[in-house]
This record gives sequence, structure tokens and C-alpha cells, in this order.
Amino acid sequence: MLKACCNPTVRLFPLVVSTIRQFRPRTSTILQPVLTSRAYHHTPKVQMPATKGAVNGTKRKANGTSDSPSKKAKGEASAFKDSKLEEEYGIVDREYYPPEMTNERCKQYNANQIERPIETLNKAQKESKAERDRVQVKDAVVHWFKNDLRIMDNKALHLASEKSKSKGVPLVCLHIISPQDYKAHVTSAVRVDFALRTLQVLKEDLAELDIPLYVETVEKRKAIPDRILELCEKWGASHLYTNIEYEVDELRREALITRKGLEKGISIDAVPDTCVVAPGELSSGTGNQYAVYSPWFRAWITYLHTHPHQLDLFEPPGKNPPKTRETFKYLFDCPIPEAPENKKLTDEERKRFKSMWPPGEHEARERMNKFIRGRISDYKDKRNLPAANNTAVISVHFSSGTLSARTAIAAARDANSTKKLDGGNTGIACWISEIAWRDFYKHVLVHWPFTWYLPFPFTYPRHTNSSSMNKPFKPEYTNIAWEYDLALFEKWTTGTTGYPFIDAAMRQLNHTGYMHNRARMGVASFLSKDLLIDWRMGERYFMERLIDGDFASNNSGWGFSASTGVDPQPYFRIFNPILQGERFDPEGEYIRKWVPELEGVRGKAIHDPYGRGANPRGYPKMCVDHKDSRNRALERYKEGLGRETA
Ligand SMILES: Cc1cc2nc3c(=O)[nH]c(=O)nc-3n(C[C@H](O)[C@H](O)[C@H](O)COP(=O)(O)OP(=O)(O)OC[C@H]3O[C@@H](n4cnc5c(N)ncnc54)[C@H](O)[C@@H]3O)c2cc1C
Repeated sequence: MLKACCNPTVRLFPLVVSTIRQFRPRTSTILQPVLTSRAYHHTPKVQMPATKGAVNGTKRKANGTSDSPSKKAKGEASAFKDSKLEEEYGIVDREYYPPEMTNERCKQYNANQIERPIETLNKAQKESKAERDRVQVKDAVVHWFKNDLRIMDNKALHLASEKSKSKGVPLVCLHIISPQDYKAHVTSAVRVDFALRTLQVLKEDLAELDIPLYVETVEKRKAIPDRILELCEKWGASHLYTNIEYEVDELRREALITRKGLEKGISIDAVPDTCVVAPGELSSGTGNQYAVYSPWFRAWITYLHTHPHQLDLFEPPGKNPPKTRETFKYLFDCPIPEAPENKKLTDEERKRFKSMWPPGEHEARERMNKFIRGRISDYKDKRNLPAANNTAVISVHFSSGTLSARTAIAAARDANSTKKLDGGNTGIACWISEIAWRDFYKHVLVHWPFTWYLPFPFTYPRHTNSSSMNKPFKPEYTNIAWEYDLALFEKWTTGTTGYPFIDAAMRQLNHTGYMHNRARMGVASFLSKDLLIDWRMGERYFMERLIDGDFASNNSGWGFSASTGVDPQPYFRIFNPILQGERFDPEGEYIRKWVPELEGVRGKAIHDPYGRGANPRGYPKMCVDHKDSRNRALERYKEGLGRETA
């Protein structure tokens, strides 16, 4: 039924040395605004100790007063003032996001005194349920695709298909492209390119079922709900189904469209699908949300063992009535739009990413099956070795929804000798537990939404100050005085820090849009601790470059490494970037692959070329001294937290 239309040859890490040599990443949007602003010319207020390279930065003043009574009384103006540096350094986009939330308000979220966006949506769905159930099927049923770009095992698509079949009316599929959403959510150009190529595959597959996929660009994100309802009315659609996205903006948007839809007699169903266990299903014995992975994971496993049907897959949609081809001819004929101006790749980049990342769900399943048939058995032992290529490299498919996490876990379980998700083959059990992290981070951020980009103007005008961008999970960590040294930041982004393991990782990211997990942890620790640069600059840079960019995983991965997040590593645990290389890339294969200047360096010198007498040509010296930076980081964390322990 489904057409295999992708290039089966996966060339994930093509080492084209000449390309790497020529390749210079485009300037980060973090660097763009500041390069032209006076911030770039700040006289450094604080000297970076032991900095061997250029010093050109500033330091954020310790922000211990954001919930102080005087600040609270002054209200929003003071909140704006507090986040001036975040604005100047491009961390927060004031076009979309309001001032930083006070620590006081974060505490109110924690004390359940403020309605969470998920509760707003649940309320809208629940309160409208009886009326929505009374809506009669008219001429069509719509499925709205978002980050669920697949036909197989797609809950909302399945429900939409069932509803349309119940009255023999056509199922119509819709996807909205929003350049403003891309900008506000810092969606990388490579991710947009992957989604557009995937939409082409999806359109062709759906057409084989006589189901049209209509893709439209809606310039203003605020206009999306009204435009969708307008299209439903035009198509005579009485019902729209969609899978819930757990980002704050999206939860509020779906709550709004649920209510607006009913005013027009259209039933909107937003259903949980992207997590294996829906956020809100798990709570501790005391009824609280888990903030630590291990007990959460035990609860997740128990839930799935006691609700095995959670891993049953949803049937793909059936064929539409043949007349759909005539009725909706113009929808079948409409092309997939090009990437919007703000997300265009160069020709060279488009070619490169196309050959590295074949799109679509066929590719996703093929990749998953190949991994489960082969490398999964070694996963536990080798997953931390970036050169071994022993992980599934499948995150792009989870984040674009070309593969559901449920499908992956069910497939891994079925390949095991036991139905227990935490038993049998250790590689399989370990892989399942890694996929669980994805669920965990979504659960956490749904419950503690102040770590998100908030809010979208669907429900609240900007000035209501209901939220922030990337508040640390632990509010007191706002008090750490970060550095904003652009010269060092640029060394980090371009992989020219002089630390081979860090540089290899950043060059892998810049060239492929992907980075191995162990390397992500290494570079995040290096930026936030060795360079003491505001971790949110790194978080943003990752979103600008990653093909698998996912708010929850990225935000939490950064929070873990910078020790500001949920269940983080303690702040005094600071990776030594040389030892990281020695431990996880002992032969230096990963480094040689991505840092051609070090190709000829032999033995242990690969991890510290100048310190071990290699003197490679064209490779920079270390930009900071790790020992000194480590001491400085420990001091700064202690100072910010006002205590010695994490
Ligand atoms: C600083 C930092 C930023 C990150 N940003 C992202 C991001 O934007 N998008 C993203 O998908 N992952 C992110 N991760 C998590 C992880 O690095 C990637 O999911 C993983 O490298 C993807 O490779 P893989 O598909 O081969 O993973 P595998 O090892 O094969 O694991 C299978 C799947 O499990 C999930 N997974 C594994 N590890 C993690 C983890 N630590 N956290 C959450 N999910 C995990 C992913 O969906 C992954 O595809 C980040 C981690 C860190 C430390």
C-alpha cells in the first residue's frame, strides 16, 4: 500500500574532508543582533580568568532580586529591565515573548495556584465534549497534521478516518506552515527542509488512498485558528482531529480553537499521541508529578505493564470514497510550498542534507528495523562512543513524527525474549529506557511550564506577564551570573575552542544537523561551565542547527548539563573536556573524522595536541584553561545559589 520512495542509502556521516574544510557555519542569530548592537562593544565588566583567546564580553549581574518585594511592586517594567541582557544577546525574541517570569510566579505554578496550559486545553475539551458529541458529520472530516507526519500508528489520523468512514464522507488532511512560528520557536532551516521533503512523501502516500493533503502557508501565527476553521467551513467539514503538541503556545492555541470551532458548529478533538504515556497519567504516591527520572521511569514501566494496550498501534486510514478525487481535485493538485524566506537553505546545504537525511516514514521504519535487527544488542555497551555509530540516529523521526515512540517501543519489545520492557536483552531494555527520557521531559515541561517559551497571544495579551522564556527549572538558578563573551561563544559555535572532542562535536552539528548524545553533554557542559556562558545561548544555537530540535529534550538536556534543570547533574560535576575525549573516543576516531587539522596526530596527543607536543598546523590553542575555568565555575555557582551544595 505504501510506496517506498526514499533513497535507501543512508549516508549519515559522510566525511568529505574538503567540504568540512570549506564549511563555515552561518552566523548564529544569537550573534547577528549583537554584532550590530552596542552590546558587542561592551567593555568587559569581568575579566575571564585564564582566557587565552580574545576577551570581549560582559557578565550578567546576579539576578537575585526578581522576586523581591520591591521588584514585585514595580511590576513588569522591572521584569523587562532584568532580562535586558537576554534581549541583547538574542536569547529571547521580544516580538513574541514577554518579560521573564518572577521567581514568585514560578513558585505559584509549583503550588498549583496557576492554571497550566494543559489544564486550559483539558478544560476546553471536557467542557465542550457533550456539545461536540452532538455535532453531525457533514461533508468531510479533517485531520490536521503537525509534528506527526506519518500515516502509520497516528491516533488522531486514525480517529478522523473512523469518523469519516462512519458516514462515508471524505477524509481531508491539512498542514499549516507558519514562518512566524518557525521564528518564534527557533525551528532550524534544516528541520523545515526535512519536514517539507517529508510532506511530499506523505502527500504521495495519502493520494494512493485518495486522501488529499493540503499544505498552506499562513504568515501570522495568530491567524492560524481562524484560517483552519475557515477551511473547514469551505470544505463542509464538521469534525477536525489533531494530536496534542505539548508546547505551551500550542496547548493554548488548541484550547482556543476548540471553543471557537464549536461557535461555528465544528467539533475539534485534540488527542494525546506523541508520548507513549500521556503527560498527567503518572504521579507519585503523594499525588505529585515526578521531578526525578528513576522513580518516574519505574512508574512509567509499571503503567505500561499494567496497561499493555497502550502499545497497540493505530490502524492507518482506509481509502476515501472515489468521488473525493473530483470533489477535492484542487487539493490533490496543490503543491507543497517552498521553505519560507526566513528558513531557506543554500543549494549546497539542501543537497548535503538531502543525501544525509532521507525523509518520510518508510525511511524511519527501515532505519528502526535495521537498528533493532542489528546494533541494538550492543547499544548498552557502545552507545556512549560517538565514533562507534551504535545508536539508532532516529531522533529526527521522533521529532518530526515520521515514527511514533509507541511503534518503536512495541517493535523493540517484540524483538525481545520477554514482554517486560525492562527485562531480557540488555541492549533492548536500555534503548527503551532512553526513549522513555523523551516522555519524561515532556511530562516535566507540561507540569512546570515556566521553563517554556510563553505565551502565545491566543489567550493572553503580551502585557499580562504570565510567563517567561527558558526559566531554569530551579528558579534560584536565575541568580547565577553568566558570561556573554561573544568571541568565546563564536569559538564554541565554530568548533575552534582548541579542545578536540568539543570541536569535533560542534563541527558534526554544523555539518550534519545532528550530534551524538555524549558529545551534546560534553559541549553543553563546556559552554555553561568552562566558558560560563549563559546556557540559553547554547540551547538556542542547538535549536538553530539541529535537525531533531525538540523543545523538551533540548531544554532539559541543557538544563541537565548546566545543572539548572530537572534531575540535573550536580553543579560541582564539571566534565574535563580532555578526559571526556580520552574516555569516549579513546582512539581519537571521532576527532579525526571531524577535525581534519588533527588527522595526522597519533596516539594520546589527539586529545591535547599542544600539551602533548604534537603542534598541529592550523589548529587553535585551547581558548581557556580547564582547571582555572572549573574553579571559577564552582565559585560562580556557589555565589549565585548562596550555598555550597546543589
Ligand atoms: C544538551 C542536549 C540537547 C539535546 N537536544 C535534543 C533535541 O533537541 N532533540 C532530541 O530529540 N534530543 C535531544 N537530546 C537528547 C539526545 O542527545 C538525542 O535524542 C540523541 O542523541 C538522538 O540520537 P539517537 O536517535 O541515535 O538516540 P538513541 O540513543 O538511539 O535513543 C533513541 C531515542 O531516545 C530518545 N533519547 C535518547 N536519549 C535522550 C535524552 N537524553 N533525552 C531525551 N530523549 C532521549 C531520542 O528520541 C532518541 O532518538 C539532547 C541532549 C542534550 C544533552
